[in-house]
Parts: sequence; structure tokens; C-alpha cells
Amino acid sequence: MTLTPAQQLAATDRAHIIHPYLPGTAEERVVMTEGKGCRLTDAEGRSYLDATGGLWLAQVGHGRKEIADVAHAQMQQLEYFTSFWEFSNDKAIQLAERLATLAPDNLNHVYFTSGGSEGNEAAIKMARYYHHRRGEGSRTWILARDKAYHGIGYGGGSATGFPVYHEGFAPMMPHVSHLTPPWPYRTELYGGADPTDFLIAELEGRIAEIGASNIAAMIGEPIMGVGGMLVPPADYWPRVREVLDRHGILLIFDEVVTAYGRVGEWFAAQHFDVKPDIITTAKGITSGYTPLGALLVSDEVTEALLQDHGFPMGYTYNGHPVAAAVALANLDIIERENLLSRAVTMGEYLHAQLTDALGDLPIVGEIRSVGMMLAVELVADRETRTPLPMNPARMPHDVIRRETGVIVRDSAHSLVLSPPLIMTEQEAKEAATAMRSVLERTTPAGD
Ligand code: PLP
Repeated sequence: MTLTPAQQLAATDRAHIIHPYLPGTAEERVVMTEGKGCRLTDAEGRSYLDATGGLWLAQVGHGRKEIADVAHAQMQQLEYFTSFWEFSNDKAIQLAERLATLAPDNLNHVYFTSGGSEGNEAAIKMARYYHHRRGEGSRTWILARDKAYHGIGYGGGSATGFPVYHEGFAPMMPHVSHLTPPWPYRTELYGGADPTDFLIAELEGRIAEIGASNIAAMIGEPIMGVGGMLVPPADYWPRVREVLDRHGILLIFDEVVTAYGRVGEWFAAQHFDVKPDIITTAKGITSGYTPLGALLVSDEVTEALLQDHGFPMGYTYNGHPVAAAVALANLDIIERENLLSRAVTMGEYLHAQLTDALGDLPIVGEIRSVGMMLAVELVADRETRTPLPMNPARMPHDVIRRETGVIVRDSAHSLVLSPPLIMTEQEAKEAATAMRSVLERTTPAGD
């Protein structure tokens, strides 16, 4: 049998590519070949609506020629040189200065990486090294939360709070302790107490157990993404910050998803009005046009890191000039097109569309959002809030994509959306209608 070009691509993919989270028995492939705005096209010519911004990025949308032109020009001028030692490049310098201007005012220093996992490895090492340099080498413990996702390195991976990311990879990094996540919808987690009161008491208790003088940092996503867009109560982060300050423990915000306009501010730290010591970013910094990550680091931490022989870890691609030039062009678009305020207005519009389309369905427990991070939590029963059973052969997000071409994602019993910030009202309606068309036929048994 002769294969069509699209079938041939899928067959070659099956023969040669190891995909994350895809069993070897899986036949289906969706081979994307083009992107424009919020739309993608696959090798068979089928069109999709990208309501997840790839993996929570694509801030400015797909197919921006202006960014491609900048990458092209930069590759011709200087495609790469190292940023180790005294070497640097003009684009990395311009980007670092710009990020320092956008970030909370204590964060004036930038350490570049190629992505979020690398960033969290660097952040955890920085936290331990900061204490080491200050003569407090016993501070090695990292506090994290269940349902957190901090990437797939051994440091960030250990801080990740899902057993599935640890099974079979042991031993994970020692000296990591997980706390309860802030998830107000799941009142059962807090035994009837105010969620923040419960979580702060737990944090204080854990610090007493481990000993403050043994703890380097707490790492947390300001809004948990992979965990299902878990939005903490407004007083959670300010109160956590106060406790950590009292005990000399650093706060690392993992803003790999939440930075660069996703929540309507440059950083979620500004949304929650807290000043972390380190912010890890990636994804939206380039909208995915090239890999890049950037850690924003406080003056105080930087001062300790730069003593003696400096901070002894570097990546070959630290401060990559093409990625930095692309990031600058991406930030220009975010600014010029007012995408921060658009994230707020479109986020509210999309939330309203989801409420209209899905609010009456018995399997919809809660619809929540901050800016352009949205989740629809699925339950078998609204009263008991029992999570909707998931049938791996008929996962709602897969059915929605296959039947309607709208791409949403499954995250821990929630359907999550993180579309490009340029999404139109028409596209928002399309996403909500597509979700309804499948969820109205989904039974409380998950079929
Ligand atoms: N941190 C968070 C909060 C993330 O959501 C992700 C990826 O989704 C990462 C870290 C890992 O980033 P990367 O996949 O770029 O290594």
C-alpha cells in the first residue's frame, strides 16, 4: 500500500521519535506543519485552534514574520559565542537590562538558561550556594508542594509533587519536603479551616520539624499550572513570604508559565504583590520561537554568588544571542500590542464564554482563571466534588481535539487553556462551544 506524504511522516515518526508521555503502542500522530496566529495546520491539511499556546506559551501567536526576520539577521551577524567568564554579547546585555526593568525592583540580575527545567536546577543550586557562601552550608532543604511541576531535572524534578515523575527514577534528590497545595475548591484538604491559615500553620510546623537553619528555599509556582491552574487565596503568598523572611529562607517563584503577560502582568509576583528572591522564567520569554530561559535574581543573592571565583555553573547556551534577539522582538510585540491588558480582558471574556457554555453541566465542578490561564475542573458529582474518573481511551481533551480541532489540555482532572494572548473573541467562542459539544455527552463515569 502506498502511503500519503502525511502517513509517511507519521510512520517515520513512529519508527524514530521517542515522545514524552506516549506509549510505544500508540498509533496516532498529529504532525503539525504550519502555524499562524492561534491556528495550526497538520500534514493532512487539517486546521486546529491552539487553545493551549503549545505548552503554555505562544504569547504573541504563531507565524510572526517580524520575529523570524530578527532571528535571521542575528544569525548572520553573530549566531553564537559563549557567555562564560568575561565574554558576553550585545543582545544578551540588552535583554538582561530590559528584564531587570520589567521585574520587581529587587531583581536586577539575570542568569540565562535554555528552558524551565534548566532554570529550576540553577535556582535550587543558587539557593544552596547562596547559603554556603554566607557560612550557612547546613541550609540544604528545599520546601515544595504536592501537585507542583518544576520540570524534569533531578532538582526541579524532585521538587515536583507528582509521584509519577519520581517512580522508576529513584533515588531523587534528598532534602526535599512537600507541603499541601493551595487549592481552595478542595476544602477537604484543609479540614474546614481557612485554607491560608491551614497552609501557613503547616509551613511553620514543617520549618520547626526540619529546623530553619537546615532550609535553603521554598520553590513554588505562583499559580500551579500542571497541577490544574490552582489559584491560591490572595493572602497566601504574602503570608508565606513573611514566614520565610522570618526564618532566613529564600523564596523561588517558578514563573515558567505565569511570566510575560500570561496573568496580565509581566510577572505573577506583581499580581500577588510579593518579592521573591529568584524568579525562574522561560516559555513566554520568546513565545517559543527559540528555546530560552532567564532567572531573575535579587541583588542580595547575586552579591553572595559573585564572591570569590563567582558562581560555578554554566550552560553552553547561557545568553545565546539569537534567542536573546528573538526575546527582545517578542517583548516588543507584547508591549506594542498591549498584550498584558489583553490577557486580562480576553481572559475574562473566555471565562464568561466557558461559564455560558459549560456552567450548567453536572460534570463541571469549577471554572477558574487568572488572565489567560483557565481551568475547568471536572467532577463525577458536584455535591461531593469527587474527581471525574478518566478513561485513558476517551480522555475529554483528546476527544475535543479529534472531533472539533480545538486543542485543550488535561491537567489533573481539569481541562486547562492557556491560549496565545492574541486570541480573538470568535476563537474564544469556538473553544467554549467545542468543549461543550464533547462535555455534554460525557457521563459522570467519565465515558
Ligand atoms: N516549571 C513549570 C511551572 C512548568 O510548567 C514547566 C513546563 O511546563 C517547567 C518548569 C519546565 O520547563 P521546560 O519544559 O522548559 O524545561
